[in-house]
Amino acid sequence: MDFDTPLFDTALAEAWVRAIAAAVEKEQARLTELDSAIGDGDHGSNLQRGFGAVLAALDDLRPVGPGAVLTKTGSTLISKVGGASGPLYGKAFRAIGAALPDPAGPADVAEALAAGLDAVRALGKAEPGDKTIVDAYTPAVAAFRATAAAGAALPEAAAAAADAAEQGARDTVPLQARKGRASYLGERSIGHQDPGATSTALLFRALADVTAG
Ligand code: ADP
Ligand code: MG
Repeated sequence: MDFDTPLFDTALAEAWVRAIAAAVEKEQARLTELDSAIGDGDHGSNLQRGFGAVLAALDDLRPVGPGAVLTKTGSTLISKVGGASGPLYGKAFRAIGAALPDPAGPADVAEALAAGLDAVRALGKAEPGDKTIVDAYTPAVAAFRATAAAGAALPEAAAAAADAAEQGARDTVPLQARKGRASYLGERSIGHQDPGATSTALLFRALADVTAG
């Protein structure tokens, strides 16, 4: 192993969560706008409330390993966010946290992120193409895995995942929603980017930013 390579440790887990909270704050209006077009306009405020509570919870948490930071993040999202995205992201972070060794290398992080995707799919039953979180998360995991398997360090794997998530989010525009509130709109959901896929891309971009240092 190359010891100059950053590992995913407690400090990096905390930095990731704080970067997500900052990104959600910055992009809240955009997430709200997207959810107003094909949902009920609360995705930005749901995530802002959730990650605000996560920051408060982290302040009380002793440094206990990256897994515990993310497990706590997940539990807090589940208890504080009423919308569909709260339990979905909550279960994802809990599964990521449960799967992470301390510290974790790129391949460990890839598998933990994949466990998070499995949790989203187990709860929400969405397939790729249903215009949900899954449409950004699936290509992100594939890119992270492939890049890590090729021997890349965390920053490179996370950057590839973020690019793939952003592309996945853009690719939801022509899709018709088949899960969640947007599915009630039928064909009228076509032509809009999915809010949840968009916030998933923010989450992966935040990971790329913090691993890049
Ligand atoms: P709500 O729809 O309850 O208002 P949010 O607005 O916070 O909750 O989140 C909406 C987002 O949740 C959608 O844009 C979609 O990406 C995601 N979503 C909804 N249902 C599912 C599902 N079954 N599986 C995966 N993601 C889903
Ligand atoms: Mg909503």
